[in-house]
Amino acid sequence: MTEHFFPQEIIRKKRDGQPLTEAEINFMVKGITDNSISEGQIAAFAMAVFFRDMPMQERVWLTKAMVHSGEVMDWSKADLKGPVVDKHSTGGVGDKVSLMLAPIVAACGGAVPMISGRGLGHTGGTLDKLDSVPGYNTAPDPELLRKVVKSVGCAIIGQTADLAPADKRFYATRDVTATVESIALITASILSKKLSAGLDALVMDVKYGTGAFKQDYEEAEELAKSIVSVANGAGMPTTALLTDMNQVLGSTAGNAIEVRETIDFLLGNYQEPRLLKVVTELCAEMLIISGIADTTTAPMAVMGALNSGTAAERFAQMVVALGGPSDLMSNPDKYLPLAPVRKDVIAPRRGYIGAMDTRAMGVAVMDLGGGRHKASDNIDYSVGLSHIKGIGDKVGPRNPVATIYARDEETANLVQKRILSAIAIVDEAPASRPIVRRKLTLEDV
Ligand code: URA
Repeated sequence: MTEHFFPQEIIRKKRDGQPLTEAEINFMVKGITDNSISEGQIAAFAMAVFFRDMPMQERVWLTKAMVHSGEVMDWSKADLKGPVVDKHSTGGVGDKVSLMLAPIVAACGGAVPMISGRGLGHTGGTLDKLDSVPGYNTAPDPELLRKVVKSVGCAIIGQTADLAPADKRFYATRDVTATVESIALITASILSKKLSAGLDALVMDVKYGTGAFKQDYEEAEELAKSIVSVANGAGMPTTALLTDMNQVLGSTAGNAIEVRETIDFLLGNYQEPRLLKVVTELCAEMLIISGIADTTTAPMAVMGALNSGTAAERFAQMVVALGGPSDLMSNPDKYLPLAPVRKDVIAPRRGYIGAMDTRAMGVAVMDLGGGRHKASDNIDYSVGLSHIKGIGDKVGPRNPVATIYARDEETANLVQKRILSAIAIVDEAPASRPIVRRKLTLEDV
């Protein structure tokens, strides 16, 4: 039974910088879940945490309490062939990594029940990308989910069970009270959902740069350290990679168009080098942390799954098992149509891309109708950007910055302006920057 306290006393303690006990944190989370704590009290508590922070132990307690506010998935009786492992990204523009990563890890022997989200604001959502595939069911019942994870090794879906309901209410209040940015609260929010999915291990992709949730590298590193520390403290082996989001990842941004890039990637037709690096490093890390491979064998296993075509087969099998077409890989044009107005974005002068406001590139996709301003907005799967150039790439009359797929001419013109003002053109190509800047393990935090 949860001990009884007065919420205002717990808020007062946090406001005054005093430590909280596990029982007090459990009480707050129970009250958030069963509505016995008011929205005003949640807001005050969130603001107190924002200013006074939480030591790692309090973050672990908060995370665990939020996990137990709802269902926790249990894979122990699913008779899976390998460990249950997942990746979570803090989000970016053109981030289609999950779509190729899940089948690669499945092909290497992992079980990947990947619970993904929809896009909101300038970042895309994996679920929206998959919704562009006709017939693909992103909300299978638990029985079908178990069956697909067992037979194919991966299933990318939306949230089915009532996972971490405390987070849902807590986040909704944080969102409207300027308290989302607290690293303690972000850590508990992300990890409560991941721990509820019953994972054996997790790899975090924490992004920094102009298109990331945390633009500043130091802040992203602080978030990564907090997540690695708290996840391990809550019993889930976790490492993190800090990856660059100062430019669009891969060469496309949108929904159907990103699925097309995924198919090309898995079939080996085109693998944009930065995307390849992020995907292969995250996959290798997942194999290492879940004990499937070691630091020597993991990269070879990942490249083997890609080059042999087994990862592409897993992707195709997942699509079919969840209701999608059986010839998607060989017939993408039939299922993933692109919007009718095609326009190349031509730079006003020759040169190289020196910098990119990646957030503005994400907003350009929203302008096209491919993203949401509010959660209830419908999106157009057929719009987007392809052939997006990166930092250091040459641009000029014969080297467009990107190609737009729009519904109409007027929107295409508007988006063209948006893209041109999102890039800086310089005379000399800047030095290349590492796409994976740092790996963080438990020993580093
Ligand atoms: N993403 C989440 O899931 N939670 C946060 O608090 C912030 C980003």
